[in-house]
Formats: sequence, C-alpha cells, structure tokens
Amino acid sequence: MRIFDPHIHMTSRTTDDYARMAAAGVLAVVEPAFWLGQPRTNPGSFTDYFDSLIGWEPYRAGQFGILHHATIALNPKEAGDPRCRPVLDLLPRYLDKDRVVAVGEIGYDSMTPEEDDAFERQLAMAVDHGLPALVHTPHRDKAAGTRRTLDVVAASGIDPGRVAVDHLNEVTAALVHDSGCWMGFSIYPETKMSPPRMVEILREHGLERVLVNSAADWGVSDPLLTLETGKAMLEAGFGEDDVDRVLWRNPVEFYGQSGRLDLSEVAGAKEPTFEGSSIKRGGS
Ligand SMILES: [Zn+2]
Repeated sequence: MRIFDPHIHMTSRTTDDYARMAAAGVLAVVEPAFWLGQPRTNPGSFTDYFDSLIGWEPYRAGQFGILHHATIALNPKEAGDPRCRPVLDLLPRYLDKDRVVAVGEIGYDSMTPEEDDAFERQLAMAVDHGLPALVHTPHRDKAAGTRRTLDVVAASGIDPGRVAVDHLNEVTAALVHDSGCWMGFSIYPETKMSPPRMVEILREHGLERVLVNSAADWGVSDPLLTLETGKAMLEAGFGEDDVDRVLWRNPVEFYGQSGRLDLSEVAGAKEPTFEGSSIKRGGS
C-alpha cells in the first residue's frame, strides 16, 4: 500500500513517527500551516514557521524517504487577531515557493467578520497564484459552518475542483459532495471520524474527489490512521486499486493542480506494485 497523507502537522511529531510512517508505506505528505497551540504575537512568528515548513521539515522527512510539501496561510484561529493579520501581506512571497502546493488551512473557526475577510482574501490569492485551496471547517456548528464555507467558495470564483473542504463527517460530506469541491476527512483515534465510519462514507459517496488524512498534530492523533483506513477498506470488500486511488492517486491529483508536486524522488510512487503484475508475470 502506498500512502500520501494530504494533511498532517509533522512539526509537532517526532522522528519515531517518521520511521513508523515510512515503514507503513507513507511516501509523501502535505503539511498545512496552522495554529501553534498558543497565540502568535507578531508576523515574524509566522515567517519563521513558514520557513521551517519549506526548509527544515522537508529535510527531516527526507531522512526517512518521505517527500514533504506544505500549504501556507493565515489559519482561521488567528485570522481575527490584529497582531497576526499583517501576515496576509507577506503570504504572496511564500505562495511563489516550489514546495508550496496550496493556500491553507483557511476557512472558519468562529465565523467572525474578520475571518470572512481573511478567508476571502486568501481564496483570491489562491486564484492569483494558480494554487488549490485547503479549507478547514469549524468543529462547532459544523453544518452551518460548512454551508457558509461553500457560499464563500462559490462567491470567490475559484474552480471548486481546486478546493478541498476538510474535517468533514457524515452530515457535511453530502453538502460538499454536491458542490464540486473535494471532500477531506480527518481520521481520529477516539473522537470524530474513525476508519469504519470512513468506509461507510466511501460506500455512500464513492471514491471520486475524496481525500483521507490523519491530521496528526500535538493533540491525541495517530499518523497511521491512513493505513488503518486502507485496511478497513480492504476488509469491507474494496479492492487494492480502490485503496490506491483514495490513499495515493487522489491526493496526487488534487495537489498536482499546483504544478509543483514533484514525485520523481519517491521510490515506488510511479506504479503500484500490484497493478498488472499477475497478468504480465507469466510471459516474462
Ligand atoms: Zn490541520
């Protein structure tokens, strides 16, 4: 099984995690810029963090054979803080960098007018820079927050096929499915979405425009829940090609829209080992 985790905060994980992920078949990750757990007090705090996401962290991942890209943004949780908002003016220079494959995480936390403004401005930046957008949905008032998110996305003029709306559940998946946006699901060890629940959603909505991630950070989370979801799919009767589509080809397709996803360094990423092997082996 080859795995691309499209949303994981490796900054908050140890090298033990990288080793376990590599052993489990995780070949590539995207790390979205997010909140650090305590409020930042100035824009310089963001730029140091962004520099580490496109410099230090790819190096750390590379030591385990894992390809690392990032998404850059002012996150929803800090979008209303006047000490942080000046970072919006610094984002364009990061959105030009090679390892940046989307604008994100953007979207809503508490759905304030300041969050509206930051969300709209950053969707416009995604359009200007030809990048996809990764959109976080709020953990409270999730259905209302998702509806409002989709309205703002529609009004922005961005192609919905270049937008992933993340942290969905059974209720919000249907809303996003009908919008043409990609559906992102974060699989958690205890609360919220689990591998069996994810399998049910795949049965209901199909495999198209679906991204499955671990969203692992410094909270209770598990970087191997992508693998567990793949195993749960196989146990439920999905084929290996279905798993490969959800855990590898879909994230490649979504972030590939940036034109910056370079998979040439990834061992085994070009063709899945199972595809065609049983057909060709007899004659060769
Ligand atoms: Zn996140």
